[in-house]
Amino acid sequence: MAHVPVPGSELTLDAGREPVDLAGAVSSAVPGAVHGLLSTLWAGGFAAYVVGGSLRDMLLGRDVRDWDLATSARPEQTLGLFPGAVYENAFGTVAVRTGDAIAGEVEITTFRTDHDYADFRRPHRVEFGESIELDLARRDFTVNAMAWGAEGASAGPPELPALIDPHGGRADLAIRSLRAVGDPVARFSEDALRMVRAVRLAATLDFGIEPATMAGIQAQAHLVGHLSGERIALELSKLLATERPSIGLRLLADTGLLDHISADLARQRGVPQNKVPGEDLWDHTLRAVDGAAPQPSRIRLAALLHDIGKPETAADGRFIGHDRLGADLAAALLGRLHWPIAERDRVVHLVRHHMFDYVEGWSDAAVRRLMVKVGPEVLEDLFQLRAADNLGSDRPADAGRLGELRERVAQQLAAGFALDLHGLAVDGSDLMAALEMPAGPELGRLLDALLDRVIADPAANTRDRLLTLAREWRARHASS
Ligand code: ATP
Ligand code: MG
Repeated sequence: MAHVPVPGSELTLDAGREPVDLAGAVSSAVPGAVHGLLSTLWAGGFAAYVVGGSLRDMLLGRDVRDWDLATSARPEQTLGLFPGAVYENAFGTVAVRTGDAIAGEVEITTFRTDHDYADFRRPHRVEFGESIELDLARRDFTVNAMAWGAEGASAGPPELPALIDPHGGRADLAIRSLRAVGDPVARFSEDALRMVRAVRLAATLDFGIEPATMAGIQAQAHLVGHLSGERIALELSKLLATERPSIGLRLLADTGLLDHISADLARQRGVPQNKVPGEDLWDHTLRAVDGAAPQPSRIRLAALLHDIGKPETAADGRFIGHDRLGADLAAALLGRLHWPIAERDRVVHLVRHHMFDYVEGWSDAAVRRLMVKVGPEVLEDLFQLRAADNLGSDRPADAGRLGELRERVAQQLAAGFALDLHGLAVDGSDLMAALEMPAGPELGRLLDALLDRVIADPAANTRDRLLTLAREWRARHASS
């Protein structure tokens, strides 16, 4: 039987045996600053509990990043107790900055009961609830539906904090199982994001999904199409940040959820690849995502999307134009997901340019042309994507002389050669004065031609040489 260590104590949690003093063990694992917030709420006569992912992760001995509290205090009352706190949203959440390095910012949310689910999305109306039990009942999975805390008392001795576990979360933690609170089919039709969360949490925590919960996902997967892009994006980026994203991504595809997030990616399954014997395009993509470092996070996203154009271009077996089409499909998907624009544009650009083919014998000018085409500031990302792509094909990360190309790019950068118009030894007004020519499209074409020349031959980047070249160019263009 799996044992779950409780930090700060030698106690273990297992499915059969009730621990002697679990609440006490939890108490010693809660940071002092969080205790302080709870005590203030209790002393004010309010119920207050550590809830959700923070309690779950604490019981698993994982690092807790965000502390979440649930309370009977209304948002205004919480604000009254904690000067400087901020009312964050319409869902009753108040954020308190503790100033403590471990506790960080703590979110304190008024007990809720959710009403009026519509469109298979979040509830339209949130009602504040009367009890911790009701608040736990609206939560998604049993391991996320436990609480540790007390009802509070403004007068008299406070009661001892206790662990509240109405849905059997502890037993599920012990067998590492993700199980929906209540009827999975109903809960997933209330809010379809829970299915994506199930996959993401199972992958993050290394949990299995309980069979009825899994059946519920398969039955309701189509509802994911109704979700807002932002909510899916948040779960997807958390999934990509897990140690081996392929685990969650494979589950996403196998449950049928991926069909409703990106049909283009889902179609990669079964597309043959001659990279790793017996593996298809989806296997290649997943290997590439696992091969990418977690930071910067855009590389994993680019690895996920780099071949998104392949299913559509597979007919001739050569995937011609999959980089161009892939860039369009990636832009459309990330647009639907409302991905932050700067990162979306970078990832689309990487997909567009991932097919560069460096071979021995490239001239320095060819290296500089690649630098200009891709943009010098994007090259490191592109090389990281190629390394992931190589690993995805079961080749060494630096296959295709990637290390050599990297070095040559670094040399070119160090030499400080001009790669854009700003680096030219003449500018538009120099040319207008020296050649007595007006501003306009011809001037733009001339500048581009000079830049091309300088990229091919950096030694030409002097004022005299460029003015001579400019005169020749004009004479040629005037006569043609
Ligand atoms: P993480 O470690 O990634 O933060 P988490 O479980 O804490 O995981 P949050 O998004 O921070 O995830 O949510 C906090 C808690 O709110 C969850 O543990 C769960 O109890 C509840 N919750 C979050 N999203 C939903 C949802 N869609 N439906 C029901 N309950 C939810
Ligand atoms: Mg959380």
